[in-house]
Amino acid sequence: MKNYSRRDFIKSSAALAAAGALIGPLSACKNININTKSGHNKKMTLKISSHLLKQVHTFTISGFSRDTTPAILAEISYDGITGYGEAGLPPYMVGQTVETATQFLEQIDLSQFSSPFLIDDILTYVDNIAPNNTCAKAAFDIALHDLVGKLLDKPLHLLWGYNKEKAPSTSFTIGIDTEEVIREKTLEAAPFNILKVKLGVDEATDKMLVNTVRSVTDKPMVVDVNQGWKDKHYALEMIHWLHEKGILFVEQPMPKEIIDDMAWVTERSPLPTIADESCQRLVDVPKLHGAFTGINLKLIKCTGLREANKMIATAQAYGMYRMIGCTSESSCAISAAAQIAPMMDFADLDGNLLISNDPFKGMEIVDGKITLNDLPGIGVEKI
Ligand code: MG
Repeated sequence: MKNYSRRDFIKSSAALAAAGALIGPLSACKNININTKSGHNKKMTLKISSHLLKQVHTFTISGFSRDTTPAILAEISYDGITGYGEAGLPPYMVGQTVETATQFLEQIDLSQFSSPFLIDDILTYVDNIAPNNTCAKAAFDIALHDLVGKLLDKPLHLLWGYNKEKAPSTSFTIGIDTEEVIREKTLEAAPFNILKVKLGVDEATDKMLVNTVRSVTDKPMVVDVNQGWKDKHYALEMIHWLHEKGILFVEQPMPKEIIDDMAWVTERSPLPTIADESCQRLVDVPKLHGAFTGINLKLIKCTGLREANKMIATAQAYGMYRMIGCTSESSCAISAAAQIAPMMDFADLDGNLLISNDPFKGMEIVDGKITLNDLPGIGVEKI
């Protein structure tokens, strides 16, 4: 993937708005006196560790099945305060493991920066150490943002001027399974307002999955095909069938590289189409305009909150829907993603609810809705 530079970014007028949205409020931090905790270390230090998150249920999507998900944890300390950042490392983030993420993070030399408030300089430096490594970069980005929020004693959504009341409901994901299990999982999903059903097997199975959920509930529902449909005519036919079933949108119906056929489908589709696997970083957003109706941002794909904010503004400029997604992650990464949820049309932030050993407490789902707390930074506490 081409590495994104700040110079490229500034060339885009859409992105200029994003730069203002992100950098503006935090630039003001330079004038804030942070030398109040004398005796503490005024150098930034980075600690790297990992943990294995256990799934409540075996999770199956088109192509993968798993019971555990490894995650990398970054802790950046400065002046007696520690910021936390986490990234799940699911198998579809090919080539990114605890080992590669640790190796990447170990290369970071923070001694060259006088202050954690130099967010843009620090994250540009980290992004340029090596291409890819988006999960490791996201864990670091989240930890740095959490640290700065804590030093200022303010939640990030407040620093960015996002109204937490506007955070949407999260969908609850139902993986590919037998009719009986799908029925059970649909009943379990009672506290949620929107269901997300994984499709992409074959016509009979996909229709069984939707019909089974519909036999239990008439709640709003979205589907995620995870690139499972290979033919544009078949994809369009399925979307018409899903439209009749009251589905709200279709996520990544076709393989990520098939952009022309996707544009053909989107032009004729009665439902919005959302790019997930096709949309990794900021540079992808302009290319997807016309091929999809919206984008699904994930911090592990786009290197974290700094770039996510730029993608929000760019998608807004193109009139595209915005969705925030996640992988199997603890409340650490989920609460970080929740900080930008007020800017989203849809949210799929249920990753922490699908694991049984969450080491953090943070954002909560109340009546199905993402509910941000007023704790500083990403709003988490270690349990
Ligand atoms: Mg998806």
